[in-house]
Amino acid sequence: MNQEYYYPSNLEEALNLLTKESTVIIAGGTHLTTSKNRAISNFVDITRLGLSYIKKDQQLARVGSTTTITEMIESPIIKQIGNGILTKACQLIGDTPLRNVITIGGNIAGIYPWVGLPVVLLVLDAEIEIKTLNGTKKVLANDYYKGKKLQKGAIITEVAFPFRDDYFCQYEKFSLTTVDYSWLTMAFATKNENGTIVDPHLAVSRVSKTQRVSQVEEFLEGKSLTDLDLNTAVSILKNSIKVVADYRSSKTYREHLLGVLFRRMLIGMTGGL
Ligand SMILES: Cc1cc2nc3c(=O)[nH]c(=O)nc-3n(C[C@H](O)[C@H](O)[C@H](O)COP(=O)(O)OP(=O)(O)OC[C@H]3O[C@@H](n4cnc5c(N)ncnc54)[C@H](O)[C@@H]3O)c2cc1C
Repeated sequence: MNQEYYYPSNLEEALNLLTKESTVIIAGGTHLTTSKNRAISNFVDITRLGLSYIKKDQQLARVGSTTTITEMIESPIIKQIGNGILTKACQLIGDTPLRNVITIGGNIAGIYPWVGLPVVLLVLDAEIEIKTLNGTKKVLANDYYKGKKLQKGAIITEVAFPFRDDYFCQYEKFSLTTVDYSWLTMAFATKNENGTIVDPHLAVSRVSKTQRVSQVEEFLEGKSLTDLDLNTAVSILKNSIKVVADYRSSKTYREHLLGVLFRRMLIGMTGGL
């Protein structure tokens, strides 16, 4: 099949090219080159649109969508977000050659269950900017992951992160080796106001759909750190999400893993604040 590869130099050109049939965006290319979708005839490379940047803008860090994972790891601005939670999540993605090309936009556009960054966007209330020929919209991560897939021809252009440096944040990726795909990914962020849990955010992916777990957040809100009932918190988590098995591990194993990792986070929080 004849395939065309386009290198637009501005956003408008890219959006117009995407109206062609069987045409998709390519950024780092790590998913597209391995997925071998024969229905795709044309690629629109968005890496020359000036969307590779990390900027501090008052209370937000703005990350352009073609910024690579390596660029994020090396950024002092990214290190300030959630006391380093985003840097840690980036460090646990794949290996160095992959991190050099994977982009933040590609990591969140496809809503693939194994990717590392969505849970961090969810617990930090990050905002995703999406452009189409009809205009620009900004969507909170929680709405983005509850919603349907991106509209055809839409380009994620930027992700804005609040710094949340007054939050206690944790990130866990469980995998067999550091470069292996994740078996379970989880992130947690909360404030401690005089020994009380305030505004807790918990997000889980890979063992179920990528989601915030509001039942656990409601249970934790306002609880005292000193007499937190860890068993109840863990059992609410297990009962709130529908854990699915895959070829790597059974449902029972994944549920157990979920409990172990969440308990570890809570112990870290009660001892770490
Ligand atoms: C062996 C291997 C191991 C990996 N391990 C991990 C891991 O541990 N953790 C992890 O998080 N990821 C991992 N990845 C990467 C992950 O699977 C995805 O491939 C990656 O996040 C996609 O980013 P990309 O920039 O390469 O996107 P691409 O492959 O270029 O695109 C992916 C999809 O997103 C769309 N897209 C890309 N950018 C945009 C945009 N700005 N707006 C709208 N749509 C867009 C494309 O059209 C395509 O559908 C691994 C990949 C491989 C090959």
